[in-house]
Amino acid sequence: MARLERPDEPVVLTLRGRRVLALLVAVSTTTAAIVLTVPTLGGTKAPESTIEVPVTDQPELTTTEAATGAPAEPQPADPPTAALPLVIVPGTAEPAVPPTNAPVVVNGREQPPRVEPPTAASGRLAVVPGTDAPGPGPDLLTYRVEIEAELPFDGPEFAAAVHATLNDPRGWPTRGYAFQRVDGGDADFVVIMASPALTDRLCAPLLTRGQVSCRNGSSVILNALRWGVGIEDYGGDLAAYREYMVNHEVGHRLGRGHPNCPGAGAPAPVMMQQTYGLDGCTANAWPLEDE
Ligand SMILES: [Zn+2]
Repeated sequence: MARLERPDEPVVLTLRGRRVLALLVAVSTTTAAIVLTVPTLGGTKAPESTIEVPVTDQPELTTTEAATGAPAEPQPADPPTAALPLVIVPGTAEPAVPPTNAPVVVNGREQPPRVEPPTAASGRLAVVPGTDAPGPGPDLLTYRVEIEAELPFDGPEFAAAVHATLNDPRGWPTRGYAFQRVDGGDADFVVIMASPALTDRLCAPLLTRGQVSCRNGSSVILNALRWGVGIEDYGGDLAAYREYMVNHEVGHRLGRGHPNCPGAGAPAPVMMQQTYGLDGCTANAWPLEDE
């Protein structure tokens, strides 16, 4: 029996009068075999199902496992990887692991999917095209939305979430503000979604350490890591944490500083640094009356 020393190269074997092409492919941390049969000249047709190929030097994978489509234990916590057919066997088209994207509801609201972004992305910012009308408040501010290219977030969805939060009647419009989204160059401020690495650069000399967001001059920089996974203190309410991020950082642009938790069990001021802990307060994404 030939030993398969180089798993990335095809090996042609002859078994029981049939030529068998075995190609071992490394997929993530497991090894799988792609097995094809090729009838010999003048030979019989390839069998419809199981093919016997001894792979005694690859003990973690058996042909039976491969032919029945029973994969190694699925790892639901892992990010999705590109689908790669493990075995091509005529007549067994069933996908091994069906997708499970059941929506999560927290505090009565369907949550956006939790997405862990890469530590660094392209480093290039792109303006999200489009405009959105402001709310009715008298103090109009224009803003532009930019997103770092190659982050796993949709620019228009991000812009829509930012705009909805900024003009929500529970938010800064209670102080008379109205926010108009523009995509030209002359906005009053810019809301940016950036990877942790780019956040650190854009926020310097403020220290965000790849973890938090900031406001720097007329730029509001939202860290894609926090946007993607939130914080534990929000108990899975990622939608509310995203509202907190927008209101807190834009609140700095409106001149607000950092208050403390006023007392155990009280709602946290939106301008409190909730990302570092709630200090006995309860999570709150909207400005309190005295903010
Ligand atoms: Zn702050």
